[in-house]
Amino acid sequence: MKKVMTIAGSDPSGGAGIQQDLKVFYLFGVYGLSAVAALTAQNSSGVAEVMAVESSFLRKQINVVLRESVPDATKIGMLLSTDNVRVIAAMIKKNRLRNIVLDPVIRSSSGRMLAETGVPQLMREIIVPYCTVITPNIYEASVLSGMDIITDSDLAKAAIILKGFGPEQVIITGGHRAGSAVDIVYDGTFSYLKGQKLPGEYHGTGCVFSSALASLLALGFDAPTAARRAKSFMNRSFRKSFSTGTGMRLFSF
Ligand code: PLP
Repeated sequence: MKKVMTIAGSDPSGGAGIQQDLKVFYLFGVYGLSAVAALTAQNSSGVAEVMAVESSFLRKQINVVLRESVPDATKIGMLLSTDNVRVIAAMIKKNRLRNIVLDPVIRSSSGRMLAETGVPQLMREIIVPYCTVITPNIYEASVLSGMDIITDSDLAKAAIILKGFGPEQVIITGGHRAGSAVDIVYDGTFSYLKGQKLPGEYHGTGCVFSSALASLLALGFDAPTAARRAKSFMNRSFRKSFSTGTGMRLFSF
């Protein structure tokens, strides 16, 4: 059985983070490994509190797991602290990990910062160069590229800048754009992943998408095919979401 590791934050509501990543891995038929980089107290309405796991303990979790199991792909999500970013970069190098998908989490949809000062810049410098795919939303792409993104041509420019930092493929997810949910893919040439924009706000979209991508890479699909399949999975998943009555919609698959 193929193995995928998630290194991300804990979301006790189960809609995002490690908890949701593991559900996606299960759906794709891959074995899920996990290391918790941060804790959150949150529900579908918002994030009440965040806390970074000590970087030495994050390192320990990963080292102990990797002693027995080397993942076929790794998804990296909320890391919260610059120390954690350094641990992950060193771990990737030391273990020569491949098929790395980075969801460069900076801020929750509800507006809470999920990355401390300096985290985006450091991720860009020491993690992004090792990634197969990075999946920023428009806000994250803007922070990482250092440019305002307003028009479609800004989006294309940002994708080119981000590709310049070294990943094989950049997918800027478009769910937050008005009107359409088209993702822009750049791997040297541009392509687009179409999605129908459904009403409502969704919690954990970035986590689900990046976990689906990592699963598909582990299963042996190349990056362009993984991107197309992960997008179809998202389009199906939006239809199978539910509301707790308050807050954002949650994916139930
Ligand atoms: N909580 C955790 C642990 C996450 O990893 C993420 C991912 O981006 C979020 C919350 C944000 O969720 P959303 O912005 O979809 O509400």
